[in-house]
Amino acid sequence: MVLNINLQKHQNCFADGAHEPEKCDIDTIQNAIIGLSAKELDGSGTLESLTFDNRFTRELPADPATTNQRRQVIKACYSFVHPAKVAAPQLVAYSRETAALLDLSIETCESDDFLQAFVGNHLPAGMEPYATCYGGHQFGNWAGQLGDGRAINLGEIINQRSERWALQLKGAGPTPYARTADGLAVLRSSVREFLCSEAMFHLGVPTTRALSLALTGEQVERDMFYDGHPKLEPGAVVCRVAPSFTRFGSFQIFASRGETEVLKQLADYTIRTDFPHLGAPSQKVYLEWFQEVCRTTADMIVHWMRVGFVHGVMNTDNMSILGLTIDYGPYGWLEDYDPNWTPNTTDAGGRRYCFGNQPQIAHWNLVQLANAIYPLIEQVEPLQQALDVYTQSFQQGWQTMMVQKLGLNTFEPDTDDALFTELHAILPLVETDMTIFFRRLAVLDVNVESLNDISDETLMTPLMEAYYVPEQLTREYRTRIGYWLRSYMRRVCKDNTSGKTRRRRMNAVNPKYVLRNYLAQLAIDKAEQGDFSLVDELLELLRHPYDEQHDKEDFAKKRPDWARHRAGCSMLSCSS
Ligand code: AMP
Ligand code: MG
Repeated sequence: MVLNINLQKHQNCFADGAHEPEKCDIDTIQNAIIGLSAKELDGSGTLESLTFDNRFTRELPADPATTNQRRQVIKACYSFVHPAKVAAPQLVAYSRETAALLDLSIETCESDDFLQAFVGNHLPAGMEPYATCYGGHQFGNWAGQLGDGRAINLGEIINQRSERWALQLKGAGPTPYARTADGLAVLRSSVREFLCSEAMFHLGVPTTRALSLALTGEQVERDMFYDGHPKLEPGAVVCRVAPSFTRFGSFQIFASRGETEVLKQLADYTIRTDFPHLGAPSQKVYLEWFQEVCRTTADMIVHWMRVGFVHGVMNTDNMSILGLTIDYGPYGWLEDYDPNWTPNTTDAGGRRYCFGNQPQIAHWNLVQLANAIYPLIEQVEPLQQALDVYTQSFQQGWQTMMVQKLGLNTFEPDTDDALFTELHAILPLVETDMTIFFRRLAVLDVNVESLNDISDETLMTPLMEAYYVPEQLTREYRTRIGYWLRSYMRRVCKDNTSGKTRRRRMNAVNPKYVLRNYLAQLAIDKAEQGDFSLVDELLELLRHPYDEQHDKEDFAKKRPDWARHRAGCSMLSCSS
């Protein structure tokens, strides 16, 4: 059966909520409750002290075959597989925050054992590598079995806070799901995944994490733009970390094959392991679970729209059941605010995955998930109602996000819809850097009494940095934005918030630093020459994306003109 849901148009909407400034406090409280001292938590552990609890492979059905032959895997959630050994691995970078999640010390991360483990050369006791089976809709079409073609799971760690973290190597060799590809990854896409996972975390966006980035010492052939110009590139492996890597497509594959028993096993496992607060699986709990997936997915999209992130390949196999950003491929960051922009060259024709479509596509993907779990519920109406939860959560989240982005107290229905709509109509009129625009808007501080005496030009002064082409600022444009800025300042005045408070609020949700496309490319260019300093510098910079970092102003500047049409900066392919 196919649910026929009428998607509400979210085109050109944005969204969001705040990042997580309270996270440390929550952690501190949790640690106090379970009686761990700060010393014990500061990552003093070694690889040998990791506690593995490989529940996924213990509780779910395995593929009986253990060869690495490419195949259709029936009635199984995963296949056991071994990472390929590599000749001359070299550590490029690691994330100390992700290491701390695993209780790993800095000393461990800098050891040869760590490098050998996280390129897949030597597996410490407790690791049981496997690749999972999943399917997916790619660009709107059912693609059948996909699976972890080049991702190899190492097992699940229970850390000292009793959190479960699954470890996964990306690019460590082919699996039974590799289809016609080689199971490898190149340095450029691995740098992008590593840096962006960590940048997103520090921005407060739900995401999978990255522990390490290493070169394999081997060359990998890629035809970057699929135009008959293959090149050898350095191979690399990223170790990703997440509570679970289960995707919408993990459920779809079993539904598509009528393997309802395995579908139920995976759903029950997921609820017990990742949604334990919902209680024992039942028809009612499946629905509550789906509603929660709708809510967390809406929350994630709201965050993407807040920071200007475009995933680029929102296929259902790239949608996490936990509402985490997953599978960093040809993603991009909005520079000039253009809702129709897609970073993915494969998507350039249809623009299915452009910035402004993301809310609508997430809903489409949730409809596919609803179809997949229908055999467990066998009722259409409650699934449709759950899908409405997505729409409501998104709209609510988007409103809250806009309130925060503009530094307001609360949403005022009489004025604010119009205020937000007009702003989003103005932003794409001329090339406007989204990140700089919101940051500079916080600086605007005008006495309301004098608003009518100030010229549009003076009013716009703080925003000038955000414009790419000053000649586009016509009289008509200046009048329109001048009118909007005056309405905005009057609206702010109604709230009676001080300029200082408004700036603080806005700067807590509007980042100063994001992983601009050209910055990632500069780090890649250097890394390909054996210089990893810019990878390190960006990793450090993006630890504090909301703070002013006075010696790093250059990284907050507009995209330079040379990057406007350069491959890797403005257009990316799926080749990775
Ligand atoms: P992606 O577009 O990265 O989400 O990948 C889609 C599917 O292709 C997934 O099943 C991946 O595991 C698989 N895949 C992508 N690149 C490779 C590769 N180089 N080797 C094997 N499988 C791959
Ligand atoms: Mg994928």
